[in-house]
Amino acid sequence: MSSTTLSYTQGSSAPEFYSETPIPVAVSHGDGIGPEIMAAVLKILKAAGAPLAFEEIEMGERAYLSGVSSGIPSEAWDAIRKHRILLKGPITTPQGGGYKSLNVTLRKSLGLFANTRACRSYAPYVRTKHPEMDVVIIRENEEDLYAGIEHQQTQEVVQCLKLITRPGCEQIIRYAFEYARSQNRKKLTCLTKDNIMKQTDGLFHRVFDEIAAEYPDIESNHMIIDIGAALIADRPEDFDVVVMPNLYGDIVSDITGQISGSVGLGGSSNIGRECAMFEAIHGSAPDLAGKDVANPSGLLQAAILMLNYLGQFEVAERIQNAWLRTLESGIHTGDIYRPDLSTRKVGTREFAEAVCQNLGQKPRRFQAADYSGFERIEIPAYRRAKEKTKTLDGVDLFVDWRGQDARDLAYKLQLLENATLKLAMITNRGVMVWPKGFEETFCTDHWRCRFSSGEGVRVRPQDIIELLHKAALTEVDVIKTENLYRFDGVRGYSLGQGQ
Ligand code: NAD
Repeated sequence: MSSTTLSYTQGSSAPEFYSETPIPVAVSHGDGIGPEIMAAVLKILKAAGAPLAFEEIEMGERAYLSGVSSGIPSEAWDAIRKHRILLKGPITTPQGGGYKSLNVTLRKSLGLFANTRACRSYAPYVRTKHPEMDVVIIRENEEDLYAGIEHQQTQEVVQCLKLITRPGCEQIIRYAFEYARSQNRKKLTCLTKDNIMKQTDGLFHRVFDEIAAEYPDIESNHMIIDIGAALIADRPEDFDVVVMPNLYGDIVSDITGQISGSVGLGGSSNIGRECAMFEAIHGSAPDLAGKDVANPSGLLQAAILMLNYLGQFEVAERIQNAWLRTLESGIHTGDIYRPDLSTRKVGTREFAEAVCQNLGQKPRRFQAADYSGFERIEIPAYRRAKEKTKTLDGVDLFVDWRGQDARDLAYKLQLLENATLKLAMITNRGVMVWPKGFEETFCTDHWRCRFSSGEGVRVRPQDIIELLHKAALTEVDVIKTENLYRFDGVRGYSLGQGQ
């Protein structure tokens, strides 16, 4: 059994390791089942003698409903930023009303770029179809579609911006390789959809290949996310460590959490250069709230990850071993209780008491936790590459137009042409509809109209301004523009489908 510890620190402002005095930690109890499972976890931490001093903070549903739109009051921010470590119960984001996800805000504001979820099976004591699985999902945590930049552009079309950056890719992919190495893992798989998104996912894949060359001791491969996710769901035991952009990681890590036996079993760490946050994989489970039935194991696993991050390996091991002993003795909460496998069905509190009673014991069937080989993960600061030569090829004008025949729009747009920029193509939802196209292609009111120069003709910003000026005068409704660049001669934009 491989351990699931990890840590990351860099610079003088990172938390102190091997501290003798209690380490201050901000604690948010959360919503729904949060307060019950947090009480259970704090009881176990206390009983195990974890040298931690907790500052309780209030954030989540109550803060949202009292008018704090982020869900995080300023006193909570102060405590988190002061202690730089947060143990967090799950939060309920109220439906509707434009509430921003508190988790996304925390991850992005604190620069928690790496989300790690270790999902392993505890067969035969916890039923799963995948008794051999032991997979770690490392998810980029700040970028991708979670930039939250969305716009309604026309009556019929809304847009969400997918942002992938080279610094973001380098840091998460390097982190994943370092994680694999530090945990004595053998293989790192990268999942993207770069057959479709050649610029964004293409960059993630390219950076993966570049960095993989620096880690010849780790086997590396890339898969397209759709078949990759299907294989993880079907044969998770074939995977070891998997790294992917934010959205795919969000989905795939829930799948792996669920198929390991229960979503209630897994913990996750969110690691940044300055701060770290630890939480269960699951949400606030309002259906179970207040019933003393929820499994506190996911949050306990998060607390164990936190102890390891803080260098408290011995106490982390003690708790993990007591927890494994409890699981294998068949004392189970309702989510994993099976009459043929379990000896006793218990509630949240009773489960915590059983773990406390097992402190000091080692598991008899599972391999005992051993965090002695623990290594800290250090990521070098990002170094900007040499500046490339950037040249302008033209511009995409996005136009709101409620007509149907692209030839009519092309006629209007050709009147905007100048000495440099000529209408080259019109697409609708990415599919070319002019100068060639099919009658069958369904068109919305959102048209991408590409203007470019002839071969070797240099485009200047003022050529684009001239184009836009004419568009305004002739009432062409331009809703946004995207410049078409080359970097060292390499095209930095996609072609139209059918082009
Ligand atoms: P959920 O994870 O809360 O629940 C999914 C299912 O798993 C439910 O049937 C639930 O009863 C069960 N479950 C979850 N945790 C369990 C546990 N510890 N023990 C036993 N069973 C458990 O997901 P959801 O229902 O989609 O979301 C509920 C709320 O949680 C929503 O408001 C959502 O926004 C929020 N949420 C918060 C976080 C977070 O704070 N990190 C993550 C996911 C969802």
